[in-house]
Amino acid sequence: MNKNLRKYFLSSILTLLLIQSFSAFASDLNSINEVLFAEKDLIASITLDKNSNYKKQMDQIKSLGFDVAGIDFKNKIVDLAINEFEISILEKNKFHYIVKWEERLTRGLSEEYKNPSEIEDILNQWVTDYPSMVTLIEIGKSFEGRTIFGVKITNPKSQATYKPNVLFNGMHHAREVMSPEAVLDIGEYLLTNQGDLQVSTWLNGMNVYLVPMVNVDGNNKVWNGSTMWRKNTNLTYGVDLNRNYPYQWGACNGSSGYASSQTYRGPSVASEVETQAMMKFVTKIRPVFDISFHSYSELIIYPLGCSGQKAKNGAMASVASLMSQEIMYQAGTPWELLYGVDGDDIDWMYTTLNVYPYVIELNNRKQGFQPDYKAWRDKTVKRIRPAWKILLNKTLSEKVYKGQLSYENIDSVSINVIKNNEVIETYKPHTDGRYNILLNSGTYTLKAVRGREILETKVIEIK
Ligand SMILES: [Zn+2]
Repeated sequence: MNKNLRKYFLSSILTLLLIQSFSAFASDLNSINEVLFAEKDLIASITLDKNSNYKKQMDQIKSLGFDVAGIDFKNKIVDLAINEFEISILEKNKFHYIVKWEERLTRGLSEEYKNPSEIEDILNQWVTDYPSMVTLIEIGKSFEGRTIFGVKITNPKSQATYKPNVLFNGMHHAREVMSPEAVLDIGEYLLTNQGDLQVSTWLNGMNVYLVPMVNVDGNNKVWNGSTMWRKNTNLTYGVDLNRNYPYQWGACNGSSGYASSQTYRGPSVASEVETQAMMKFVTKIRPVFDISFHSYSELIIYPLGCSGQKAKNGAMASVASLMSQEIMYQAGTPWELLYGVDGDDIDWMYTTLNVYPYVIELNNRKQGFQPDYKAWRDKTVKRIRPAWKILLNKTLSEKVYKGQLSYENIDSVSINVIKNNEVIETYKPHTDGRYNILLNSGTYTLKAVRGREILETKVIEIK
């Protein structure tokens, strides 16, 4: 088959398949995978119709299987990373779009961005330079056998009897090379500003955990020429680690069942070793807050991910607006800002472990996934510092209500957090009975229960 004919043939199949059901064409699955998998070195920018429903338009784009690279929420422009075969799908669906070879995708990666061994070197250097403050942690192994590293930073000499934990992680998605930089900047800032009263208060009062690069294999692939690689490297096509977590895995069209898709959720719940490593680690440390750094779109995202779902405890949203005012990124749930998402880390952290987690999407459309390092690295990480500082301050403030229960079999105990006769959160105490509940100002009843048995009740006032 000559190239043009092949292109026509493949794009026709693809259009049909994407518009109709995939299942009827099961025998062509290999060709579909090839087509969807072909390197996406073009960007199609679609300006949505501001007079019609934003969410409906985003859902339509998502349902056609496109790789949404990022958005400009204010101007309602969506960037799709596509290959030439996918152009016909845009045409068939009558989108108004501009396709271009995108300089952002082709100019190459600034060499200052980190690879997995550079991350390891930096963390080891911190241990050497600040041996009492920094502890190196092995989070787990990747599919290809690389170690996912993290650190714990705290002042071991502080008088605090109890130190809550906070977590910052980067690079679930390989091509988002700015995300480890944001995590590394937090460590550099804390370690080099220990004389600052605010910093010493944080390091005396809590443990700060940093995991700069979750997807080490994917990142290695990015450095080996696949600059638009997003997933891990398992199963030929890779799995989207941020669609592989157990909560509502594959539940609401917030991920794909097709292996070649950029949002492939994997063959089963938490199938990937990288996901498992993060789950084990987060379960162990039970941080009060988490930020998972991604790029791009200048957003602050909080649970829940499936369309129409919201956490009844509004405190997460309130903290997101505070961060939003400081760094001027747009705040909301995934489905308000982008599209429905299932199997993501923040939903799992909140619903399973009562962590208050955020995704911060760094950079905007002009900068894209891999902005020039010298021009953008420092600007980007400095701009978002107020956001993580808010979380560190909140952790030690009265807005995070802290207590401890002492019962046998604490695993079977939960705390119903009640406001105006409604349970707004069911909190599972830590294994030592501790709890750290983020709340807005107001009066709440905390009811510790085991099944139907009420163990204790207390009324608290949050100022
Ligand atoms: Zn991402």
